[in-house]
Amino acid sequence: MSKDAHVDAGEIAEIQAELRRHLEWLRDAGVAEIDLPARSPSAPRAPLPEPPAAPLREGDGRARGRYALSDKGCGSAALLRIREDVGECSRCKLAGGRTNLVFGVGKPNAQLVFVGEGPGADEDAQGEPFVGKAGQLLTRMIEAMGLRREDVYIANVVKCRPPGNRDPEPDEIAACEPFLKAQIAAISPSIIVALGRFAVQTLLRDTTPITRQRGRWRAYEGVKLMPTFHPAYLLRNPVEKRKAWEDLQLVMKELPNKGSV
Ligand code: URA
Repeated sequence: MSKDAHVDAGEIAEIQAELRRHLEWLRDAGVAEIDLPARSPSAPRAPLPEPPAAPLREGDGRARGRYALSDKGCGSAALLRIREDVGECSRCKLAGGRTNLVFGVGKPNAQLVFVGEGPGADEDAQGEPFVGKAGQLLTRMIEAMGLRREDVYIANVVKCRPPGNRDPEPDEIAACEPFLKAQIAAISPSIIVALGRFAVQTLLRDTTPITRQRGRWRAYEGVKLMPTFHPAYLLRNPVEKRKAWEDLQLVMKELPNKGSV
């Protein structure tokens, strides 16, 4: 067998594993049948329309020199400016315990933004939101929506890991929130999905339990917002995946390029 054939076999195994994870998510989410309309592998869903990105000016690529457009979550001039403003932040007590500040990740002009709570150990180590176990589930949820991680933007209420994964505290949320707000304004999405209690409470200023808020459209600064369960909660309570999937299906119906399973 040639070297290329080996690579192909590996790739096929990876695709099979991905497909299995995808189908497991759908099964857990209560999907009994998969309707495969005209779409086929040779005719993938058209990508979401791209709103024009803010034009770059001379010097924007490395505003004040420290960060670059190629850094995670910094892919537009506006996001890069926000990253510069965040800087090597020490505005709250989380700063002392972090390995990496987790700014965000994804498409700078995404139609869909996911907001979580705060980095865990894996995210702190890699400087990217939602890369641990909960992150892998979030990725599966995004893919089940017919999207890829690169099609959306992912951020958190706080950008530094709370020690021992404790809940972020009000002063920490207050210190970080202006930057999340600025990121959302810079991205200008059509829809925000707020993952779990902290995202919902921070963005909506509403302390109603997530169990009562999920699945109902709300608005954040004029942007449609869908509250749903946090993937970490879904890992602990897999039976709730069905409800989360219902919420994401509502989101899919509202996206410019409507999805279906
Ligand atoms: N949980 C979150 O809320 N955010 C992350 O980035 C990872 C886990």
